[in-house]
Amino acid sequence: MYKKIIVPVDCGALDKGEKILQKASSLLDAGGEIILLTVIEDMPGYLAIDLPVDIIENAVNDGKGKLASLKQKTGIEARVELRSGAPAREILAAAGEHGADLIIIASHVPDIGNYFIGATADRVVRHSKCSVLVDR
Ligand code: ADP
Repeated sequence: MYKKIIVPVDCGALDKGEKILQKASSLLDAGGEIILLTVIEDMPGYLAIDLPVDIIENAVNDGKGKLASLKQKTGIEARVELRSGAPAREILAAAGEHGADLIIIASHVPDIGNYFIGATADRVVRHSKCSVLVDR
């Protein structure tokens, strides 16, 4: 059904990542491509100054390792991409750059402060130029 699917994974919630990766695989056309994306969040300068210099490098290596193990565990072929910045903005930018026709994003268990979907999913749905599937 879709030729290029962006699967954004929060490395702190790999179980959700696994679920949306499986869903992407089931919706992908033969010859299509999945982009498994994680965004390393930027840190405000006043915080970064007190942190070890290698913290970003460690986060990048950790993210690469986690996405690689997700691919291995599921056996699903995907292009791995790491970006840094604000998650919603980077997810939308990746979708635009790759000409994606679908973004599959996980939502969270609703709570009072964030009732329907999480902040990232909400922003992506609102601003995306391609279809977005919010997995519940
Ligand atoms: P939650 O309250 O569960 O964090 P969010 O809206 O922030 O809700 O996140 C929902 C989904 O957005 C995640 O399951 C994931 O698909 C995507 N997402 C959130 N943060 C990131 C990130 N840093 N990198 C890639 N995807 C992310």
